[in-house]
Amino acid sequence: MNFSLVLRTIVFLSLILLLPDTLLASKQSKKAKAKKTETRTTTSKHSSHSTEVKHDTHATEAKHDSHSQAVGTTPSTQSVIATLSQGNQHFVAGEMHTQDFAKERKILSSGQKPYAIVLTCADSRVPPEMIFDEELGHLFVVRVAGNVVDSSILASIEYAAEHLGAKTMIVMGHEKCGAVKAACDHAHLTPNLNCLLRGIAPAVAKAELTTTDKKELLHTAIQENVRLQMHNAVLQSPLLLEMVEHHNLEIVGAVYDLETGLVNWLMPENHELAEHQE
Ligand SMILES: [Zn+2]
Repeated sequence: MNFSLVLRTIVFLSLILLLPDTLLASKQSKKAKAKKTETRTTTSKHSSHSTEVKHDTHATEAKHDSHSQAVGTTPSTQSVIATLSQGNQHFVAGEMHTQDFAKERKILSSGQKPYAIVLTCADSRVPPEMIFDEELGHLFVVRVAGNVVDSSILASIEYAAEHLGAKTMIVMGHEKCGAVKAACDHAHLTPNLNCLLRGIAPAVAKAELTTTDKKELLHTAIQENVRLQMHNAVLQSPLLLEMVEHHNLEIVGAVYDLETGLVNWLMPENHELAEHQE
């Protein structure tokens, strides 16, 4: 890595630590609302990004009634987080909107314009489209055990960011992740799995500095692994680093709770998340 790249990376890492703070207020507000009311607010679901799909699939639905995005623009990260959080509330409540897959397929066959990239674990219990109550063509999902970045994963993400125009990337780990647990256990598995676990090991090492309790270690390592993969994405991809520097891409961390269905946006000092797990 040359000096220039190192310098740019340092600048980015400084930014990435600041970014989540800007999301804190919004997330806390939304979680508070979720706890206080069971009322669905489907009218604004998808409103922030629906104009991104060239041929809209929901012409007759009320959720189109409050468009704020100009046609041809990409929603801001704040808007993406708000949309995803709202979809997640639907999922948690078991009140997901009805989808017309036949219609969506037909419209999307001419192209895709996902508004966000989601890197998450391959775990069968963590399907992003369902977790965020999202439709075909809206999320560019890349999945691998432990949500670990490597060259193939980054190639997919680069494609979505550069060619498809997604400007928000979410790295989403999940509680009770088997891959992170194996890394915590310092397991020796197959050569391929060992390679994967090496990608998580630095997160485990950092978590081990904070606790020796196995349950807490796993919980902390899962969060640290999300942050690690966020950092590695820009460390290992000059394109993503450049996009972040030019504000053409924002990377956000999250952890999904298998039991509650809630997605918790990850922040450097996420007391909210810690409290939720207790
Ligand atoms: Zn997992």
